[in-house]
Amino acid sequence: MEQTFIMIKPDGVQRGLVGEIIKRFENKGFYLKGLKMVTVERSFAEKHYEDLAAKPFFPGLVDYIISGPVVAMVWEGKGVVLTGRKIIGATNPAESAPGTIRGDYAIVVGRNIIHGSDAVESARKEIALWFPEGISGWQSSAHSWIYE
Ligand code: UDP
Ligand code: MG
Repeated sequence: MEQTFIMIKPDGVQRGLVGEIIKRFENKGFYLKGLKMVTVERSFAEKHYEDLAAKPFFPGLVDYIISGPVVAMVWEGKGVVLTGRKIIGATNPAESAPGTIRGDYAIVVGRNIIHGSDAVESARKEIALWFPEGISGWQSSAHSWIYE
């Protein structure tokens, strides 16, 4: 089944939003397949955001991501990449709808508390980067109550 990489950024951790964020994905019916807290090195953050290296905000973005521990997760479910992006909301919290994570808990783009993969292919790359050790193969006993 489809998987996505979700990261609670250092501001989300500092503000005590880890449980709230996990709850939204869990309540939806997605399965948590990987989870760890990690403080990443500059070179690792640069690799994660390599597609944005030419952007003017890139140095500040990297400083932000390495400023404290993040919570890295793999979530699984039908359409989880796109639906995960909807749960997260628009990149700029000023444009994120109320009810989305960024819409409810963030104000500015440089402190938008959460990352989510933007496509199935980038999810695959990001999961491989963040979880080289692999992820759990557990299966939910609620599966037939979530999917027909
Ligand atoms: N970002 C920023 N300023 C901008 C655009 C993006 O600081 O003008 C940061 C923001 O933290 C965003 C991250 O860079 O989440 C990655 O940007 P992207 O366009 O990939 O947005 P996302 O996929 O996170 O919504
Ligand atoms: Mg992105």
